[in-house]
Formats: sequence, structure tokens, C-alpha cells
Amino acid sequence: MNTKITLAIQKSGRLNEGTIELLNRCGIKISNGNNHLKALAEGFPMEVLLLRDDDIPQYVADGVADIGILGYNEVLEKGKDIEVVRQLGFSRCRLSIAIPRDVNYSGRQWLSGKRIATSYPEILKKFLNQNAIDADIHTISGSVEITPGIGMADAIFEIVSSGGTLLSNNLKEVDVIMKSEAVLVANKSLDEQKSELLKKLEFRIEAVLKAQRNKYILLNAPKDKLNQIISLIPGMKSPTVLPLAIEGWCSLHSVVNEDDFWEVIGRLKDAGAEGILVVPIEKMVI
Ligand code: ATP
Ligand code: MG
Repeated sequence: MNTKITLAIQKSGRLNEGTIELLNRCGIKISNGNNHLKALAEGFPMEVLLLRDDDIPQYVADGVADIGILGYNEVLEKGKDIEVVRQLGFSRCRLSIAIPRDVNYSGRQWLSGKRIATSYPEILKKFLNQNAIDADIHTISGSVEITPGIGMADAIFEIVSSGGTLLSNNLKEVDVIMKSEAVLVANKSLDEQKSELLKKLEFRIEAVLKAQRNKYILLNAPKDKLNQIISLIPGMKSPTVLPLAIEGWCSLHSVVNEDDFWEVIGRLKDAGAEGILVVPIEKMVI
């Protein structure tokens, strides 16, 4: 079978690094060569198109690319008929309303009759319609944050991550409208072979993302506390228990989720665990 799947990714910008890193972790290396639009992948039957993120939804909808990686915000903005396969956990940001710091935001109706600058007019339009707000949308493609300061807009609707850009432009975030992260998208009518390849890629991504969310944990436990400690770190099926050379002690190996990590560590110590080691996991297949 010589079928290749065509993946569209951002050529350069805020998604590029996370995308390349994810693919690398999935065992897929991209060599760009001299051709700046197309690249071949090693480690997977895949061809890669390097595009502006704005163009990815159209390429995938038309089937020029079979699948793509881009920000969910861009998927919504373009509104093309493509399938969102899964979230990828990087390039996390939010799209928010921000206004000058010294202005009081009395709630969403404050936006009525105001001029709002944005590079996401479609998402903003939908939001305004849903909230029955009548406002002027000013679409601009970059440096949206400077528009209130130069008298072009009363508010902005833009991507925020740390809030640093807002701060340096004397703006404050007053309303988070949506959250976004990178997503894997696909054409809705892939043939059987390409669907198979997409499934294989999803399998690899799943293993990588699961591994990122979990840590391998090793600890020493007194045998009389074993049951209590096991209940704190049940692991994938059950923890591994190995005898220690010292009578009455054993070593326990398990997996712990990053989200409850610190809380679990505290409880393990309280329950009598000692010598706790935590190590990263490379891949995780359950
Ligand atoms: P292109 O040249 O490909 O059109 P762009 O200038 O439109 O790029 P970038 O600034 O590279 O876009 O951002 C790409 C995507 O990364 C955004 O659509 C968003 O999903 C995400 N993103 C943008 N800014 C941030 C940020 N500060 N933190 C995290 N994610 C972000
Ligand atoms: Mg863009």
C-alpha cells in the first residue's frame, strides 16, 4: 500500500513548534529540503504541506490536504465543513473582550453601540448575535491591541494567553468568550486507506498525550500500610509490588495523573510512603 496521508501544518508561527514537537514524539520527522510548501515525513506514510494557518481549513475542506493541525479558534472563524478529530493540548489560549484599563465594564450590554476591533470577526459576530448586542465590528489583521489607544476602537476581541500584550497597551481582559487549543482536523470524506492512516496517527497521538499527562511513580512502603497506599495510586491495572531486602517493606510502582500529582504525593507521605521517585513517561498505551 503506497497511500500517503497529506497533513497541513502552519509554516511558521505560534503553532509550528508545538506541531513539530508532537509529530517528533509520534516518531514522525519532517525534512523540509528546499521545497518550502511541501515536505516529506519520515516514520509515517505522510506528506506535509506548510501553510498559513488561515488557509488550512479550506485546504482540508477541499481535500487538497486530508488532515490538518491548527488552532480551534481558526477552525471556528473559517467555519468550513471539516471534522475536528481531537484536541492536542498545546497552543492554549483564550479569545476575550478587552477594554481600556480605566473604563468600567458593566457587563456584556456595555458593548452595545461600541466599536470592537478584532481579527476574528465571524466568532465575534456570532457572540454578539447570541447576546443580542448591536456593535460595530472593525476587522483588522494584526496589532489589534493598539486600536483603543489610537482612538480606532472602544474595545477589542483578541487572543490572550498571559495578558502581557494587553497590559503593555493599557487594556484589561473583561470577558472570556472562548478557549482554544491546537486541534487535529480532517476532511469529512477520506477514503478507507486514508481513514486507516488517520486512525494510526490518532493512536500515536493518544499514546504521546496520555504519557504527557501521567508520571511514573516509585516508592517504598511498609507492608502494613500497603493497602492504604495502593488505594491512592491504583495505576493502570494495579500497581507493581516488589519486595525490598529489608523485612516488612516493599517497593511500589505505579502511574499518577499530573493533575492530582501534588495532592497524591502529600497523601502518600501521610500514609507512610518513603523514598518517592517520580519519572516522566515517554509513551503510554493502555
Ligand atoms: P499565520 O502566518 O500562519 O497566518 P498567524 O499570525 O495567524 O499565523 P499565530 O500568531 O502564529 O497566527 O498564531 C497561530 C495560532 O496559535 C492562533 O490561531 C492561536 O490558536 C494560537 N495562539 C496565538 N497566540 C497565542 C498565544 N499567545 N499563546 C498560545 N497560543 C496562541
Ligand atoms: Mg493566520
